[in-house]
Amino acid sequence: MTTEKLEPLKGHITPVRTVQETRPTFEFGEAYVAQIATRSASQVIKVLDSKYPRQTDQYPTNHLRRFAKYDALPAHLQEQLGPIADEERENVKKNTLFVLIPPPLPEREHLCATLAPYTPAAVASSTKAEGGDGNCNNGDDVRLLTTRIPLQPPLSAAQAEKWTKELWPITFNPAAPRGMVAPPPQLLRHVMQSIAGSSSGPGPGYYISLARKVAREAEESGRGRGVGCVVVDATGSSSKPVIVAVAGDARYAYPCPVQQDTEEESSPQRPNIREQEKRGPESHATMRAIEMVASQLRAASSSEHEQSSAGKPPTLTPPLTPLESEYYNTSHRSAGDADAASVPGYLCTNLDLYLTHEPCLSCSMGILLSRFRAVVFARKGRLSSGGLASEEVPNNSSSREKQDSAPDAHAQTPQEAGDEEKMSNQRQRNYYGLHWRKELNWRALCFEFVEDDETGNIDDNDHDSGGQNDDDVFNA
Ligand SMILES: [Zn+2]
Repeated sequence: MTTEKLEPLKGHITPVRTVQETRPTFEFGEAYVAQIATRSASQVIKVLDSKYPRQTDQYPTNHLRRFAKYDALPAHLQEQLGPIADEERENVKKNTLFVLIPPPLPEREHLCATLAPYTPAAVASSTKAEGGDGNCNNGDDVRLLTTRIPLQPPLSAAQAEKWTKELWPITFNPAAPRGMVAPPPQLLRHVMQSIAGSSSGPGPGYYISLARKVAREAEESGRGRGVGCVVVDATGSSSKPVIVAVAGDARYAYPCPVQQDTEEESSPQRPNIREQEKRGPESHATMRAIEMVASQLRAASSSEHEQSSAGKPPTLTPPLTPLESEYYNTSHRSAGDADAASVPGYLCTNLDLYLTHEPCLSCSMGILLSRFRAVVFARKGRLSSGGLASEEVPNNSSSREKQDSAPDAHAQTPQEAGDEEKMSNQRQRNYYGLHWRKELNWRALCFEFVEDDETGNIDDNDHDSGGQNDDDVFNA
């Protein structure tokens, strides 16, 4: 149909950085450090591990040294030990070690009682005279120090060195998985190549262009805002990418039950009135696309589909426009794809989503909960109400580095300098970077599509892109 003539947009995709990359925060916890006899080291490990099993999911410990010698202790721990006479110092260096007890911390008294047999004094006295009071020690002799420790591995050798000097000896492993912080480089490269497409086949420029067409259709029909999206299966059984569904915004498609009497003359030019009759995020393009995928999977994997949909109240699932119907009716997904996708119980495993706008918080969570592989949105469609970006649009190629050291150095472009209100408005934007948060149980690759004519700044006068205008803030 008409989509044949679609002109792909010229541009490229660029990874959306994660909040952990743009605003690295490090959590610290309290830990104990106990002085023990060097010769008891291996027993101490056994006892500690059996009495206080490590919870490495919550408290990773690979970056923390387990033992430290006196000389390797940070100054504040040496101070906690108190002054040591010169003749004693050699003895301490030679015969004692310091062991780290990371969180979750045991009861202090319980820990002391556990470690009592292994303190230098106890070991010394038990070897001096058998039956010495070493093993009857109630823990009073245990030297227990406290320190803060980083709960995540360091991101650089310099950071490891700093922590080692100030907190506790830390190891830096450049090969350690940083999957919580950012997508592993190999995965990022692989998906980026897959999305960029071959020179002959459709690429992101094509899909974003199609999404814009869907968006126009939604807006011109009066059913919704000018937001559209395209769902692509680039990893299915077919050798080339397949468009699984397209959906436009439909927030005005069904009158809100409470607001049915609102005047008909409300128009996109009067968003304040239209906003009153809009539906919620379930009518946003992303949620509708996910619902279409679900509906296709139901149809492909079950013959009960027709029965179950009969007699139900109308939902936003059915395609509303010619374009939506075109892709909805032509389900290219085989039953095999449907099975493969539905086995883990998630709808959009391995699918990619292309959007005209940055999705709102609800849709961003919907993207994660249905487990898309990747999401690509047009940089021109960044919204202050969006949930995926994690930083300002860089002003130029070097500004990302600048922002690392000066998070507030933004919005200093000449055309914005005179517009204080707009600047303060922009500063209020929260950057959630929801696509890759360590506290969520699914992470999706996320890219911005940057058109060739973009200088890096979002043009605030670009009405087609919408959203960036202060008087036109909306959720996509
Ligand atoms: Zn939304």
